[in-house]
Amino acid sequence: MQILSVLTQYNALTKPFTYYYDGDDVVKGVRVLTTINRRKIVGYVVNVVSTDETISEASKRLGLNLVLIDEVLDTEPILTAELFELSEIVSSYYMNPHISVLQAMLPPSLRPLKSALTKPKIAYEYIVKINRALTAEDKLTPKQQGVFDEVSTSERVVRKTNNAGQVDSLVKRGIFRLEEVEKSRLKLDLKITPVNVTLTNDQENAVNAIYNGSKETYLLHGVTGSGKTEVYLHLAKKYVEDNKTVIILVPEIALTKMMIERFFAEFGREVAIFHSELTPAEKYDEYRKIAQGKIKVVVGARSAIFVPLTNIGLIVIDEEHAESYKQNVMPFYHATTVAQMRAKSYNSKVVLGSATPLLETIARAKKDVYGYVELTKRINETVLPHTTVVDMFDLNNVHTDSPFISKQLFSGLTDVLNNKEQAIILLNRRGYAPYVTCRECGATKLCPECGISLAFHKSDNTLKCHNCASSYAVNEPCATCEGTYFRFSGFGTQKAVEDLEKLFPTARILRLDSDIAKKRDSTYKVLEAFRNAEADFLVGTQMVAKGHDFPLVSLVGILNADAALAFPSFRAAERTFQLITQAIGRSGRDKISGRAIIQTLTTNHYVINTAKKQDYLAFAKREMYMRKLSHNPPYYFLISLTFSHSNETTLLATILTLKKQLEETLGSDAEVVGPIPKLYMAFGQKVSKSLIIKHRNYFKIKPHLLKLLHPFRTQSSFDVRIDVDPVDA
Ligand code: ADP
Ligand code: ZN
Repeated sequence: MQILSVLTQYNALTKPFTYYYDGDDVVKGVRVLTTINRRKIVGYVVNVVSTDETISEASKRLGLNLVLIDEVLDTEPILTAELFELSEIVSSYYMNPHISVLQAMLPPSLRPLKSALTKPKIAYEYIVKINRALTAEDKLTPKQQGVFDEVSTSERVVRKTNNAGQVDSLVKRGIFRLEEVEKSRLKLDLKITPVNVTLTNDQENAVNAIYNGSKETYLLHGVTGSGKTEVYLHLAKKYVEDNKTVIILVPEIALTKMMIERFFAEFGREVAIFHSELTPAEKYDEYRKIAQGKIKVVVGARSAIFVPLTNIGLIVIDEEHAESYKQNVMPFYHATTVAQMRAKSYNSKVVLGSATPLLETIARAKKDVYGYVELTKRINETVLPHTTVVDMFDLNNVHTDSPFISKQLFSGLTDVLNNKEQAIILLNRRGYAPYVTCRECGATKLCPECGISLAFHKSDNTLKCHNCASSYAVNEPCATCEGTYFRFSGFGTQKAVEDLEKLFPTARILRLDSDIAKKRDSTYKVLEAFRNAEADFLVGTQMVAKGHDFPLVSLVGILNADAALAFPSFRAAERTFQLITQAIGRSGRDKISGRAIIQTLTTNHYVINTAKKQDYLAFAKREMYMRKLSHNPPYYFLISLTFSHSNETTLLATILTLKKQLEETLGSDAEVVGPIPKLYMAFGQKVSKSLIIKHRNYFKIKPHLLKLLHPFRTQSSFDVRIDVDPVDA
């Protein structure tokens, strides 16, 4: 008999449940089906102990009433030893339940969750092979002969509806045989053109410095258009030649199809892609291919950091500053931190690539914790775009027919049209009008769930909450005074397109924002159309600023450049700088020299000034000083604790008590800031408030935190979210 310790969603914070099993031997790491309170539950076996005792003896010794496992679901562990250990490390570092990390690591079909049982199963297909040569007696119909010829000349013919008749009859006659293989349900529509790139000296030096260097993590700091992708690719080739595997993380897969195509051109069938937009079936198939050792290189988004590759030589995190590398729901984790945890197991290199690194990253590079490799020049020595800042406060600059477009941008766009070039216009607000106010009482329409202003979307004539995605009718009376006349103010991408269409009646304009991106593949279609010069202007949110390489773009216009500075986060300046710099970096990347126009109300802000000059180091220096003054990263580390409760008074009193306890226990090792009301009520009708702990030594304060937070984590009336190293605070 075996005694099993089983982790389930239901004992997330307590010890695993104990069961017994008397069938064939079970190994650690498989899933089992159990019953708790007459409910069927899937759990993950974290420990197995064999014993000669009887059930009653074992129960007595353990002081438990041992229950039998209903069914063992896997024959082999679903995670490698390395990944299981990683799950423990991630869970412990982020103080998130171990089971939540296991769920995040696995594709839906393999999760230790009951729903996994109904998720897609392995699908098979049949490859047609020639079983014996044809003889003179074999009379084939013309159709059969056709299939026979196809099978004898091509590498891989699959039995499908349009050849099944012929295939089956030839199998019966012993001419063909079928080979059952696991089917891959992911169909990629890629343009794969073989290219032969000779690295520039700078790129070559970067590859060698990283490959031969002795640091674990490298910052590859390369200006926009300096050819970082080729550096990743050539590094990957070296590690694959060394018989190692490679993970390439990208911020958003839809925006990186070019890069994926480049990797497929180089590595062919040995590449897999992995990200959250795959269907559960596709994920399961890709996951198995990787686990079976058929894959050398995985290109994917955040969750791909958990793919079951072994012997990893290199992990690249492209655009390492991107927010999408942080998961903001349980389990909270940052892909870079996890990459560094994994790198320890395989002695792999981690490469963080960016033109605008996080301040934490540049700080570590400057302190020699990370290796620092620079690419200071654009490929083909093209110069960085010439950038103008336009003061939109000065009405002389504003176009008479649109309050959102400057005369300078208007004239630049006119040139673009005349020269048959292209322009990108960035406005980091989707929808039509971000604010709708009542003309009677002046109240702004707010989302009843989240309390943030509703944006008007003209395309479907609704008001939308950009936090919870609920939508409301435009003509609902004002919640305050029941007024029915409204003013639409501010402007989003839909309004920008409308104004540009009026100003440039002949221009072909495309829009890209997350409203468009909702449909699968639509992002790629828009980008592809723009790349094929089917449009003159591309208008959109931050999605248009990311990593794209469009050779015809000679002008980038940034509307409302300072809007993001008001965002309530210590990272507001850094984000705004990144966004502007990345956007400007889309201009003049090939033969045509580029220009950029920044429209702003705050012309003398250091973010605008340094972004205009594309001077990252000047920005970083200034911002570092601000961070030092405000006790924020990289000078301090943060932990954000968000509590939610249905009663605000109870919540406040409890948080204040906890704050005092934290201050007393942590003493000079930490500062406790708050309670801060949360902008969004993340838990439906509950009220949320958070405390921010600023500290310099996590491992010193963590045991105290665990102790003080324990009652909250196990008591049901409070929700607590622990976010270690939050991106925003
Ligand atoms: P980054 O990511 O640094 O902004 P990319 O990797 O997108 O830059 O490269 C910019 C452009 O330069 C791309 O069109 C790429 O194909 C091209 N490129 C990169 N390296 C080379 C090279 N060694 N020779 C020629 N073209 C290159
Ligand atoms: Zn809402």
